[in-house]
Amino acid sequence: MKNLKLASGKPGQKTIIDIDGVTIGSGLVVIAGPCSVESEEQMLAAAHAVKEAGAQMLRGGAFKPRTSPYAFQGLGLQGLKILEKAKKETGLPIVTEVIDPRDVSWIAEFADVLQIGTRNMQNFALLKEVGKSGKPVFLKRGMHSTLEEWLNCAEYILSEGNPDVILCERGIRTFEKYTRNTLDLSAVPAIQELTHLPIIIDPTHSTGRLSLIEPMSMAAVAAGCDGLMIEVHAKPEEALCDGAQSMTPAIFKHLMDRILPLHSFLADTHSTAEP
Ligand code: PEP
Ligand code: MN
Repeated sequence: MKNLKLASGKPGQKTIIDIDGVTIGSGLVVIAGPCSVESEEQMLAAAHAVKEAGAQMLRGGAFKPRTSPYAFQGLGLQGLKILEKAKKETGLPIVTEVIDPRDVSWIAEFADVLQIGTRNMQNFALLKEVGKSGKPVFLKRGMHSTLEEWLNCAEYILSEGNPDVILCERGIRTFEKYTRNTLDLSAVPAIQELTHLPIIIDPTHSTGRLSLIEPMSMAAVAAGCDGLMIEVHAKPEEALCDGAQSMTPAIFKHLMDRILPLHSFLADTHSTAEP
């Protein structure tokens, strides 16, 4: 891989990131919550539901990068204050998206992890700013990007002195229309060969279909990912954003009940299997 200095893999050395006691890079971390923060009631309902099902971190967008300028853009500061309350009530650290370099420093006061969405993966000014933020960065793969381009974006953040980068595969655009994107699961072992950074799979945005999220989560865990990011809404039919692909708390609980034993089983087999 060209031009990688800090992001390239060092055998036997994996980056482990501690976020308020949740470690990413050893074990399986599930980040869950709604696509966007819509109201206090909606966010708190989702936060308590995902916590109860066993999620370790909470997600929710206060700034939404929408395809249309007329679509709901997020609650901004009000949304961040709601996330703060959700964290206080559940103890779950917060992952939230930042879309503008001018907002990084003050959003970092609310967020435990700053998310860079697919549309901003190569927003180099934003990458440099989150690189200076002192907060872990959740870097989603650009929907048209190669692994090399993605890792070079991680390199932008690392080279600003921020070692805490979490990669997230969220599907890439292909000719297939049935799914919202195509989940590139080969990115999991490939990224693990190429870099020491942890990799999370987002089966929600990559499939865009509720029925496919659990099977692809199982496959992602089997492939050895470090975690999953999944959208959950207490009332998906009322969601302002991505309702059709959001899990209800009951469906999410079902998923958790299937992936956790799978992960433990694989961890046991890995520790006893001959190479
Ligand atoms: C999101 O996670 O809310 C999101 C907008 O995802 P992506 O950037 O992958 O489309
Ligand atoms: Mn979404």
